[in-house]
Amino acid sequence: MTQQGILIVVSGPSGAGKGTICQELLSSNPNLKYSISATTRQPRTGEVNGRNYLFVTKDRFKGMIENDELLEWAEVYGNFYGTPRQYVLEQLNKGYDVVLEIDTQGAMKVKEKSPAGVFIYILPPSLDELADRIHKRGTDSLEVIKNRLQCVNGELAQAHNYHYIVTNDQVPAAVEKIESIIVAEKLRTVRNTVLIDNLYRTGSVGNETNAIK
Ligand code: 5GP
Repeated sequence: MTQQGILIVVSGPSGAGKGTICQELLSSNPNLKYSISATTRQPRTGEVNGRNYLFVTKDRFKGMIENDELLEWAEVYGNFYGTPRQYVLEQLNKGYDVVLEIDTQGAMKVKEKSPAGVFIYILPPSLDELADRIHKRGTDSLEVIKNRLQCVNGELAQAHNYHYIVTNDQVPAAVEKIESIIVAEKLRTVRNTVLIDNLYRTGSVGNETNAIK
């Protein structure tokens, strides 16, 4: 039987660098899959439907809620965002680890439903750096940037509800820290009771030690 994958939830204030970290993480870890969210927000320059997000109308988003297609959803900065349930469950059942890059409201809903998930909060090295990164990104209007910066304090207060805090001063170091978290999580007793049982029953832990691929 394939061991279930781990649900990894990554949040952090706008500009903390979650997107870059997740991209790097996914490109070097073939056992990780990224959950593409649905959103009613307009695509930014360079964003591709089906790759960055599923860009949908408000009506379509409402339909997804009504049909129970979303694992969680939330209104963030005036737009709706949600995680399509089917893809996540399918990948976990196939044994892949799945990354959700979502806001704190959505993350706390997932935490209630999936307590075995791993919740990681990304911090910027400083608030000045955060503001600088949002400005430099150059993809949002001044009004949008102002709104996002105003939300930072409320966002940071939620960090206490996560299992791990990762500061993003250097992307490769932050990625390495998350890889270490994933390895440690795979070694947790609750995820490995089958190995103990195997050893008792057959004299060997079996082929797939610690479910690390
Ligand atoms: P952005 O508009 O910058 O792409 O994303 C804005 C915020 O929405 C970010 O904090 C991002 O993590 C969050 N977000 C993206 N997808 C989802 C989702 O499916 N659900 C929730 N709850 N938040 C999401």
